[in-house]
Amino acid sequence: MKTTRRTVAVCAAIGLLLCSSTGAAAQEGTVVLRTSKVVDGTGQLLVDRDIVVRDGRIAEIVAAGEGVGDRVEDLRDMTVLPGLIDTHVHAGWHFDADGRLARGSDMEVRVLHAAENAYAMLLAGFTTVQSLGGREDGPLAAALARGTLPGPRILTSLGSVSANTGGPDELRLAVRDFAARGAHVIKIFGSESIRTGGAPTLSQAQLDAACGEAAALGLRAVVHAHGNESARRASRAGCTTIEHGALLDRETLEFLADRGTFYDPNIHLIFQNYFDNEARYLGIGGYTQEGFDQMRAAVPRALEAFRAALTVPGLKTVFGTDAVAGAHGRNAEELIYRVREGGQSPLDALTSATSLAAESLALEDEIGLIRPGWMADIIAVEGDPTETIEAIQDVRFVMKSGRVVQRSGPGEGP
Ligand SMILES: [Zn+2]
Repeated sequence: MKTTRRTVAVCAAIGLLLCSSTGAAAQEGTVVLRTSKVVDGTGQLLVDRDIVVRDGRIAEIVAAGEGVGDRVEDLRDMTVLPGLIDTHVHAGWHFDADGRLARGSDMEVRVLHAAENAYAMLLAGFTTVQSLGGREDGPLAAALARGTLPGPRILTSLGSVSANTGGPDELRLAVRDFAARGAHVIKIFGSESIRTGGAPTLSQAQLDAACGEAAALGLRAVVHAHGNESARRASRAGCTTIEHGALLDRETLEFLADRGTFYDPNIHLIFQNYFDNEARYLGIGGYTQEGFDQMRAAVPRALEAFRAALTVPGLKTVFGTDAVAGAHGRNAEELIYRVREGGQSPLDALTSATSLAAESLALEDEIGLIRPGWMADIIAVEGDPTETIEAIQDVRFVMKSGRVVQRSGPGEGP
């Protein structure tokens, strides 16, 4: 009964986000995951263990063969990891029937596209995503939390605030409004685009107001900030995470590390997906030929900032992709790029997308680890991603909140 009380307490604390005892999860009984190799989320490896899953959570971890349950899932020919976490997606972005980027589509259309995008990300092994998106995320996050429709756990900002919102007082009001409507996080635009140099668009007083109000309401605040000054202001204001930060120098990255500000560089998928789908975006809104040229020029700058970040002791560099239309389900490509081009070790890259990402979402006691008491968000991939990071794309098993949502044989793919 202890588990029930814990679940109820968590449900009350953050809405329905972590309720696992409702819906299909409760009907699975006790499931034993028999494993030979587990990456636990902290960078440690566990060998030959049974992971016993009950009521949506990891009940215990014992020697292989000793777990007792209603059924056994044999994952011994795979590498087992915590479900992956992407801290920056836009669940609702989609292409229209004509194949071009949809702008201003009806809410019911956006919600269903967002559900498709969410499912694609789940099949790719992402069991939690933070959508810094729009209103469509609200009904989707609630539907997924009910536990019938398969998809990742979604945390959402429901929208964003920016210089257009107004001064400190208007920003505080807007933050309170998002909180009242159930936002899990506040998204703030604090700088110009990388295409125009990333200069600050909010003053220190405005950022102090927005992030201060969020903190007073118990919410995290993440800030779109490309340049050094905007990132420093956000960090000084106590904002939780710097998103993008493609133009940050080493001194600013050290500043973030000293203050415990998370850094979420989005250095590959956002660019690559635009380049792959250029014809679908070009000519819509700000997607001009000149803009695409500037994005191509930004790729090496973003990579440079990421490489610098890896050399800053104590900097909490988390995993996020900024996945927009066309990119959902491709999230792991960013992990591969960080290892292959950025020089990060595979194990550190995997930690950034599990326990460290969970910490940046203030869910470090719930997700991102394979440990008794944590949510049973567990995936298995063919091969060993700690040696060959590309293996992270060969997802053959996905369990979310204790419920098996995907199981495929070798080479079948999701
Ligand atoms: Zn974004």
